[in-house]
Amino acid sequence: MLAPDDRAALRGASLRVTRPRLAVLAALRERPHADTDEVIRHVRATLGSVSHQAVYDVLRALTDAGLLRRIQTAGTTARYESRVGDNHHHVICRSCGAIADVDCAVGHAPCLTASDDHGFVVDEAEVVYWGTCPDCTATSPLSVNARSEGSR
Ligand SMILES: [Zn+2]
Ligand SMILES: [Zn+2]
Repeated sequence: MLAPDDRAALRGASLRVTRPRLAVLAALRERPHADTDEVIRHVRATLGSVSHQAVYDVLRALTDAGLLRRIQTAGTTARYESRVGDNHHHVICRSCGAIADVDCAVGHAPCLTASDDHGFVVDEAEVVYWGTCPDCTATSPLSVNARSEGSR
């Protein structure tokens, strides 16, 4: 699945249009929030053999150019997504690592205003909501108990 505007996006960022770059963009559109290994697997499925280093380089170049966003939270591997520029947040399952987008709470960046910005010009607020995803909630006996307690 190759969106025609990937080429335009690369050119707009003054990046050369290459097959690995297009493949990485396509992979992340199909599988948002993929980590590097998943991206490599996807890219290899389309292009055949591509070195880890080549994919790392593409991820770095596209992130630096603002075409990808890198999500790095405490205790997790870096993940990437092509939904950039809208200041959205993420909800992550503590149990299985599932991740989903949460729209910005306020509607403009920075989403939250710091109570004390220490003189910094703040342009982004990154919020991570940690919790348990519906799948894990359904299969965990603990939380099933907790739920039936609550409903009494
Ligand atoms: Zn989960
Ligand atoms: Zn996202």
